[in-house]
Amino acid sequence: ILERHAYEAHRLVQILRETQDALGWLAPETLTCIAHRLQIPRVQVESTANFYSFFHIRPLGEYRILFSDNITDRMLGNQALMQALCEKLWLEPGRVAEDGLVSVDTTSCTGMCDQGPALLANYRAITRLTPARIDEMAHLIRRRVPVGDWPPEWFHVEDNIRRRDVLLDHGLAPGEALAAALDRGPTGLLGEIERSALRGRGGAGFGSDIKWRSCRDAWGDAHYVICNADEGEPGTFKDRVLLSSDFDMVVDGMCIAGFAIGASKGFIYLRGEYRYLLDRLETRLAQRREAGLLGRDILGRGFTFDIEIHLGAGAYICGEESALIESLEGKPGKPRIRPPFPVTHGYLGQPTTVNNVETLALAALIAVRGGEWFRAIGTPASTGTKLLSVSGDVARPGIYEFPFGVSVAEVLEAAGATDTQAVTTAGAAGSCLAVSEFGRRIAFEDVPTGGSIMVFDQSRDMFEAARNFAHFFAHESCGFCTPCRVGTAVNARLMDKLALDRSSPYDLDEMERMHHLMQGASHCGLGNTATIALRDILAKFRPAFDRRLHSPDYEPGFDLDAALSQARRMTGRDDAGAHLTDNRSAHAGG
Ligand code: SF4
Repeated sequence: ILERHAYEAHRLVQILRETQDALGWLAPETLTCIAHRLQIPRVQVESTANFYSFFHIRPLGEYRILFSDNITDRMLGNQALMQALCEKLWLEPGRVAEDGLVSVDTTSCTGMCDQGPALLANYRAITRLTPARIDEMAHLIRRRVPVGDWPPEWFHVEDNIRRRDVLLDHGLAPGEALAAALDRGPTGLLGEIERSALRGRGGAGFGSDIKWRSCRDAWGDAHYVICNADEGEPGTFKDRVLLSSDFDMVVDGMCIAGFAIGASKGFIYLRGEYRYLLDRLETRLAQRREAGLLGRDILGRGFTFDIEIHLGAGAYICGEESALIESLEGKPGKPRIRPPFPVTHGYLGQPTTVNNVETLALAALIAVRGGEWFRAIGTPASTGTKLLSVSGDVARPGIYEFPFGVSVAEVLEAAGATDTQAVTTAGAAGSCLAVSEFGRRIAFEDVPTGGSIMVFDQSRDMFEAARNFAHFFAHESCGFCTPCRVGTAVNARLMDKLALDRSSPYDLDEMERMHHLMQGASHCGLGNTATIALRDILAKFRPAFDRRLHSPDYEPGFDLDAALSQARRMTGRDDAGAHLTDNRSAHAGG
């Protein structure tokens, strides 16, 4: 493995992944050996191995089952299914079975919300879980049948494309967009991207022409293109579908970006949950090399550009571009201090443009059809179309491509939503709209979205959605800065306290304070956006919180008297003085 990666320390994440695949887990002596052979400090290897949730430095069983735990999975009954599997295998969630055979736990959204409930079995996605499948899975595990021999239909992932527009219906042949870009030349191409007013589709909406020009103009020994396919926002799966159904358009877009900025190397950072796509994508890249559509002298036009796929290892924060670059360099995915920005100091300190999968595919379309054509679609401030991943309480979950400016109500109607009470428009990190707001438009200037549209009908308890989001962020905070590390944990505990009926209005005020503190003081976008949906739900669905308030005065989050029981056991005391409540009454009486 080390030889294949040329003993390069910046390939550490891939080295660890492949080593774990081969050995089952990352034992201390394995980490020592890797550090020694790469000639880097052991602590560097250990901190990277520790950071990613798909790496394990303790044995976790021959079978590792991770249930996707997005709110949409919960709405589809994932908790009961997990409980059933644990009972059949005689184990507790989060623990390894006593015989070391299997562990069952949860993981953040696996990007299968249109066909959940879903899980990862040894990191391979299984969708459309049913009680019957869980029964059979337990049986297969007990018989020690390798995951690769489980029923193939379990691993089938549907694209579920429900509405096509200019991108999903482009009708172009592989390489056609790339040829058009080469004809235009780098300056002409950048002019078209500028005229199109294309903005990044990952959510931030940064102008693509500005990003590409800044990167092209930056000095460096080499320039790089990174395709950010680490879509981890709960409820988002549009990049999965683009990669699966139209990979050539994404590759054309990457080559075009490379041509515009003067790069000859690109990376696709594929989220670990989409590992099932890896072989297929690698094969297609090899076919394109054979066909002269990738690699040296592309289309015989003297342009060289090649692509490598890097598989993530289960860290939502790596969707943030500087964290993603850290991960590509073999380090824990912690966001960098900016400036400098990646366009001048990115991968290995060189100028790097990081673009979303959808943005790159759209750039390919613009290379053929031109900027003016693209600008005529959508709204003046949000040109073109947007891919929406629609899930939750709808009759037809899946991918919908709409021109920007479409109303939320139109999206709901297309997806067959009825009796809707709320829609989250940017996963766990964006706003939550109530019925009175369904006339609002999907656009950067009104309702911006990275593509996650989760729908909740009147039967849903919006408190549970907010609680799921709070736990998601507590799990995914990288821990680098205190406001986010502590704030996300406090919010998750406050939501649990509400769920236990131990809260007072003081706790809701505390969440409000936490929101302001985290927004102002967090180091990166995760901390800055971690409370948006939570706060929105609290403001718009207040009764769901109010009915859980236990007392108008402060209430502790746990039963202190019960917590003292261990001390009573150890000291052998059980008199009135050893009980908190009795002490309180005694003092009150005194
Ligand atoms: Fe890490 Fe959160 Fe700080 Fe971002 S805001 S650097 S995710 S701790």
